[in-house]
Amino acid sequence: MARPRPPEDPVAYRNPCARCGEHRETAAHWPDGRVCQLCRRQAIRTKGTCALCDHQGVLPGVSISGPTCRACSGIRLKIDCAICGAEDELYSEGRCWRCVLAVLVDGALSHPGTGQIAKDLIPLADALKSMKRANSGLTWIRQPHVQIFLSSLARVATVRHDQIDALPRSTTREFVRSLLVTHGVLPQRDSYLMTFEHWLLDVPARLTSPAHSTVLEKYVRWDHLRKMRARSPVSRGTFLRSKQAITVAVDFLNWMDAEEISLAELGQDDVEAWATGGTTTRLIAERFLNWARKEGLVSRNLRMPQHRRGTASRLTLDEQQDASTRALDPNMMTVRDRAAAVLVLVFGQQLERLVRLKWRDVRVTPDAVYVSLGGDPMPIPAPFDDAWRELHANPANCQTASHPKRDLVFPGSKPGQPINPGYLANRIKAIIRARAARLGALDELTKLGPVVVVAGALGYSPRTLETYAFDGGATYARYLGAVKELAKAATPGTSMLER
Ligand SMILES: [Zn+2]
Ligand SMILES: [Zn+2]
Ligand SMILES: [Zn+2]
Repeated sequence: MARPRPPEDPVAYRNPCARCGEHRETAAHWPDGRVCQLCRRQAIRTKGTCALCDHQGVLPGVSISGPTCRACSGIRLKIDCAICGAEDELYSEGRCWRCVLAVLVDGALSHPGTGQIAKDLIPLADALKSMKRANSGLTWIRQPHVQIFLSSLARVATVRHDQIDALPRSTTREFVRSLLVTHGVLPQRDSYLMTFEHWLLDVPARLTSPAHSTVLEKYVRWDHLRKMRARSPVSRGTFLRSKQAITVAVDFLNWMDAEEISLAELGQDDVEAWATGGTTTRLIAERFLNWARKEGLVSRNLRMPQHRRGTASRLTLDEQQDASTRALDPNMMTVRDRAAAVLVLVFGQQLERLVRLKWRDVRVTPDAVYVSLGGDPMPIPAPFDDAWRELHANPANCQTASHPKRDLVFPGSKPGQPINPGYLANRIKAIIRARAARLGALDELTKLGPVVVVAGALGYSPRTLETYAFDGGATYARYLGAVKELAKAATPGTSMLER
């Protein structure tokens, strides 16, 4: 990207640069004339195959056939790296950026005693050295806190998650951990399970009666941890549900304590009193009650009153249309956020699944942008595809060691990991309430197509979608037509999904 050029000074520099014609200080006298600093730097950064002799490397010369090498242009320039010998812009002491970075990486990761890099750390060293932009790598590794962290990592003989845990907590630590996972040194770790286990540490202290701590501990271990570990990696949804179920179970136990009711004495009247004595959140104690019943800790006849069904908030058609219009406004959100919002609004996608989308699931053609959400490619109707075309032309954040494969559409700050769905939800919630919008879109879509077709196309299981569906029989073509109608929602006054 071109930086703004500093203003020229025709008074101080009367003779113009032979290349750009601007009046600037002369940096070199080359066969084609005096050359300013800006043109000299640009010349050094021009790389490729010489237009005259097929030499590959830096091409500082100009000719009518194209850029030329030093030999063909007669330009004398020190661009041979003293270490690797490659032709490149030199950074310091005759060394190229990449070689300077490599020296710093080796220095930081070598064990102070042996002077060697531990075998486990070699893939990390290679990854850091081969970052696409060596200058960004240099900026990163020079930071004092990064140096301190890497030197403590260098003293670790073999790399395991628990050894990294033992190093001081920092974003650098987690960044390096993710690099180690991406490059196969460490296995993928279940981050939600870890966060959950950490969260559990403070839970027993919330009990008002120590008499309940044994039952709580059993409940957590057998009804939550055991199941979560069996299904690792844990999803964000499971993590949040478990946290809430345990929080409400603690409240329920504390309520019993205040009411001086023991588990063994708990009656259906008490359960009803608990359930109706506060918000509907109290009903979430059902999971604890069911577990306690199976364990024989409470009477076998106890039942928690049921949730009313279908009360999850969803956007009305008008609200959805309004949100869609806003999702199209480039001033309201970044292109990445708009692209995500479009999939929520048009296809009712969950953010948790959406963030894992790969570029190979997206096909951009002059006519339409197709996205595969677990089934056949679906066209994103115009004008919703604008954000996707823009994002495709300019995918963010993929030039570093973090995302070597450039495959994730929504790369996060951690290497190889997608953006955190909770973070993304926060980014777009000013515009749409993601969950509500999703349920709203599903509501409309399920009216339009046979459940199996719609489910397959959207990557939902038919059973999940069936709970939303109340009318089948329409064809897939009708569904696609309706999606096109949805696009017209951007035009004020047109009803979305006219039927
Ligand atoms: Zn110039
Ligand atoms: Zn040449
Ligand atoms: Zn070099």
